[in-house]
Amino acid sequence: MNEKLIVVLGGGESGVGSAILAQKAGFNVFLSDNGSLKDKYRDALESHNINFEENGHTEERILMADEVVKSPGIPDTSIIIQKLLEKGIPVISEIEFASRFTTAKLICVTGSNGKTTTVSLIYHILKSAGLNVGLGGNVGNSFARQVAEESYDYYVLELSSFQLEGLNNFRADIAVLLNITPDHLDRYDHNMQEYINAKMRIIRNQRVNDAFIYWEDDPVVTREIEKLKPEVTRFPFGVNKKEITAGYTDEGKLFINTKGKIFNMELELLALEGMHNVYNSLASGIVAKLMDITDEQLRLSLSDFQGVPHRLEKVATVRGVQYINDSKATNVNSCWYALQSMRSKTVLILGGTDKGNDYSEIEELVRSKARALIFLGKDNSKLHSFFDGKVDEIRDAASMKEAVGLAYELAQKGDTVLLSPCCASFDLFKNYEDRGDQFKEYVRSL
Ligand code: ADP
Repeated sequence: MNEKLIVVLGGGESGVGSAILAQKAGFNVFLSDNGSLKDKYRDALESHNINFEENGHTEERILMADEVVKSPGIPDTSIIIQKLLEKGIPVISEIEFASRFTTAKLICVTGSNGKTTTVSLIYHILKSAGLNVGLGGNVGNSFARQVAEESYDYYVLELSSFQLEGLNNFRADIAVLLNITPDHLDRYDHNMQEYINAKMRIIRNQRVNDAFIYWEDDPVVTREIEKLKPEVTRFPFGVNKKEITAGYTDEGKLFINTKGKIFNMELELLALEGMHNVYNSLASGIVAKLMDITDEQLRLSLSDFQGVPHRLEKVATVRGVQYINDSKATNVNSCWYALQSMRSKTVLILGGTDKGNDYSEIEELVRSKARALIFLGKDNSKLHSFFDGKVDEIRDAASMKEAVGLAYELAQKGDTVLLSPCCASFDLFKNYEDRGDQFKEYVRSL
């Protein structure tokens, strides 16, 4: 038995995974959550005989820790974290902790938008090629729990900026940075540079033999690279080929240029639609070729990928109107991509909990494509003050049922009804899945 005490703060997916791993590694473990635990997590802790508390933190006990693993949802400014830092007790993230206990190759994806789609696509490609691979981070089972219970050779990890903040010695073998646009600025006290710094931590500790895949047309990312001058080998992607571009498009085809060989594929064969998904496919294709996936296998996987629910998900066509669920568009930029990929007049449903949004980014697309706007939120005043007078028809809805009913009324044959809210969902829904599921339910009962 190791005498060191690991305290885990937060009893959700990542916290419980960390506690199970710490226990397995022989540490003394104590988990503390100031809210109540979900039944499945309480059961998991009990069945592993792990000490825990909920609905409050016992400070004396927490401050006895040798090291603390913090869930990404707990901000550094919280009282308990401040006290730990004052005492000089190291506070790390689940990802940092778990990475100490595996020698698997780590493929890590971050960005403001497209993370889940891209990790799911990379995972699909690698798994279909027969690799022993796990998928974790922000999606599915926690990385720590998989390290404790599985023995994968590769992990594809989705890392949010909150998870990246807690990384110190962690090193990604392959890092993918899709884009950096304003999101979660509320958590960063509206300080964009802090958010950027968190995202750039994905390349921390990377060495020359590691790979860094990024979107080279993103001005923020390229500026940061110039500043940081990382030694890692770079594999940028973009629409047009520049000097060292490893993934690009040309005359309706996608090209991946790595290891002195070029892979190509018709864009129209890609399973995922929309320009943003060309980027996601380029990034995933570079990962695949760096991992020596064959051309045949890559072509097959890029074309038979099923997609992820709530991301430009086609729901149904009712009386000649197509309904699309993009509930996961919780910021303005992802709505921009959704609108941009619309080929018909669109009735756009948007609204919810605003995270400091600047709607001018979508103004032009809204003016040219929107037949009507339906604001679905508890407080629609900010949306009204921006959009009133810019679109002929604007309505308010207080529930998803009402929003779908209004959309049905306003859409004309050949139109699309798009739920792409630009906002978080917590004012009227449990989460974005609940919002998307309700949309689908009401559309299907039209
Ligand atoms: P994340 O996990 O980063 O939130 P998702 O894959 O869940 O990203 O997609 C979230 C939203 O962002 C979707 O609505 C989708 O339409 C949009 N999106 C997906 N990929 C990109 C991209 N590369 N650039 C911009 N927007 C994207």
